[in-house]
Amino acid sequence: MELQLAHAAATDVGRVRDQNEDAWLALPDSRLFAVADGMGGHAAGEVASRVAVETLAEELGDAPPGEPETARSQLEHAVLAAGRRIHDQSARVPERHGMGTTVTALQFLEAGRTVLAHVGDSRAYRLREGKLRRLTRDHTWVQEQMDRGLMSESGARQHPASSVLTRALGTAPRVSPDLSVVDWRPGDVFLLCSDGLTGPVPDEDIERTLREIPDPQAAAAALVLLANERGGPDNVTAVVVRTGAESPPEDSRTPSS
Ligand code: CA
Repeated sequence: MELQLAHAAATDVGRVRDQNEDAWLALPDSRLFAVADGMGGHAAGEVASRVAVETLAEELGDAPPGEPETARSQLEHAVLAAGRRIHDQSARVPERHGMGTTVTALQFLEAGRTVLAHVGDSRAYRLREGKLRRLTRDHTWVQEQMDRGLMSESGARQHPASSVLTRALGTAPRVSPDLSVVDWRPGDVFLLCSDGLTGPVPDEDIERTLREIPDPQAAAAALVLLANERGGPDNVTAVVVRTGAESPPEDSRTPSS
């Protein structure tokens, strides 16, 4: 299956914060896309998220990936390297002490496969035939409560501790990502986003937006706008990647009879 990708990204500081500590990456030649959401005082969050995406680009930016097994371990290696680098800086520079970041990174392979690495509460989604599926599980305290049946999805979104992470890159010498291999088909739409989107905007609205707006640039912009219309409580970032060619319009098909 030949791999064609159309992508776009949109990011915004939101309506409350005064700096944007989100970072994103799109390297179409290496078919690599990522979102990182930094945390830490004195602009350290901005440093952490930038180091994360820069390290991924350095480690994986040279060539298209190969087999799923290899691609998966290369992606894991790159995320571990990013975590080490952030932790080193945080240990050396007092103003950056305790900084960390989420990272959600997706790399497309041939043969209908992607590899996905994930730490924190940024998310990956896939829209297929109009249905949205979440591909990552948040590393948050509220997610753990939900897993135990102690909290509902909407309760978790509105909870004061909704952004408390149980895993963040750079906060320890070694932080391992969750890794998975996910399939893609032509016409799928993948979304990587920070919690500045998923906090104020429920999955149903993300699904409707991606279904109704096929163009990645327009869809990414619409998602950021939705978050800001609902208060823009946080930095918001959306990377939208559409796979494969659309089926040809009806009138260009060869009549069968
Ligand atoms: Ca955030």
